[in-house]
Amino acid sequence: SSKINTNAAAPDGYTGEGFFATKLDSVVGMARANSLWPLPFATSCCGIEFMATMASHYDVARFGSERMSFSPRQADMLLVMGTIAKKMAPILRQVYEQMAEPRWVIAVGACASSGGIFDTYSVLQGIDKIIPVDVYVPGCPPRPEQILDGIMKLQDLVRSESVRRRSSPEYTELLASYNIQ
Ligand code: SF4
Repeated sequence: SSKINTNAAAPDGYTGEGFFATKLDSVVGMARANSLWPLPFATSCCGIEFMATMASHYDVARFGSERMSFSPRQADMLLVMGTIAKKMAPILRQVYEQMAEPRWVIAVGACASSGGIFDTYSVLQGIDKIIPVDVYVPGCPPRPEQILDGIMKLQDLVRSESVRRRSSPEYTELLASYNIQ
């Protein structure tokens, strides 16, 4: 292994010549955060913004998330984009349950987050009524930059998670800073 400068200003993790120590949690977290395969559950207008997010200008491949997965079993993050009618709610729930752990959810836009402008008997008033949500992206619709920001916030959460359980102190602290329940 190559020589490592052990001068006083050496960063955390350097413990001597030819040695680099880190935590398994950090390595797994880094790998997971940079390869989040999305399952796009797009039901209306917000989905169009996601198409722009996927295209070359915004280039979601920079974050390792260009590989769409239309099978829940090969997806890591569920992106819910659009109005969810109450009739569709059990299907969304089933899709979520078919995803393997670890799995994460982003509510993209006002409709997925809270029902949006559709405060009516037939529309679910937020997907967190039926599945847990990790990140909420505001907007009607959110611009692609906001969707990317939501993915980056999720990456921060994933990096801070424990391999064994999601509620590491760092994860809880970060979640609180996003004001997410
Ligand atoms: Fe359409 Fe606005 Fe609802 Fe997005 S939040 S699905 S843009 S109505």
